[in-house]
Amino acid sequence: MEKGTYRVLLFYKYVAIEDPETVVAEHLEACKEIGLKGRIFIGTEGINGTCSGTIEQTDAYMNMMNADERFQGIEYKIDEADGHTFKKMHVRVREQIVNLSLEDDINPNKLTGNYLSPAEFLEKMQDENTIILDARNDYEYDLGHFRGAIRPDIRTFRELPDWVKENKEKFEGKKILTYCTGGIRCEKFSGWLVREGFEDVGQLEGGIVSYGKDPVAKGQLWDGQCYVFDERIAVPVNQVEHVIVGRDHFDGEPCERYVNCANPVCNAQILCSEENEHLYMRSCSDACREHSRNRYFIEHNMTVEEFNARLAEIERRRGEELISTEE
Ligand SMILES: [Zn+2]
Repeated sequence: MEKGTYRVLLFYKYVAIEDPETVVAEHLEACKEIGLKGRIFIGTEGINGTCSGTIEQTDAYMNMMNADERFQGIEYKIDEADGHTFKKMHVRVREQIVNLSLEDDINPNKLTGNYLSPAEFLEKMQDENTIILDARNDYEYDLGHFRGAIRPDIRTFRELPDWVKENKEKFEGKKILTYCTGGIRCEKFSGWLVREGFEDVGQLEGGIVSYGKDPVAKGQLWDGQCYVFDERIAVPVNQVEHVIVGRDHFDGEPCERYVNCANPVCNAQILCSEENEHLYMRSCSDACREHSRNRYFIEHNMTVEEFNARLAEIERRRGEELISTEE
């Protein structure tokens, strides 16, 4: 397969949808007919999706969407790829296509922050009185983020409003810039910030993905890579320089390689080198390593002797580390 014969689409639209169940069933049928793979959520507040296919397939999908009044005017972010980036096609009902867990939800068509183009965002980031707030999860931030951006200590988007309330002093009297992968989360989140009384709230229109392609911004002041929710996991953003900010979970060395913890109950995403993946048996902690359903142990047909030898090696390295930090 040649690079560029496939494409990945990332898109969303906040629009009132009646009877999402029926729309989902029809949409799934149509996507399968076209041959797309990916993940699309539809709810009463709109559509949110990412999918892959050949140029013909993705064109057919966008034409189908444009023929539907509800889905007209969507700005598709298009990446070239050398194959599908999903294994299956899923279309599902999700009551809220973006969930901030608010009792009184925000409709971004009625209330949202100021839309900033990539060039405007780049300029405003450099204003001293501005703080940049990442609206994504911790593991997304850890792979890459705007230089100087605040990292909310959250595992899911739903936790973000409480985190902001608890850290309000960081934002008082400042202009706020917020951003996310494709722009969908910020439309709602920046609306919530405005409702909370923050006065000067800007959001990156089209998200990080558009920012990296913009001919003026060229992804500048972005460090690391952008986390994406498909098989690629990481995509480049900054066209001018590449600074690695990801750190290996085990030894702290620069790293941009994500794996999932082998304990199926944990499944946490951890950055680690291939070497450390094997030494630590792809497990984020001792408890996960020794979990009875550890997938690494099963996948590699390990014997108990091999397992114990690996544990002894980990212990030996810990001992070395203690000595070196004491020096
Ligand atoms: Zn774990």
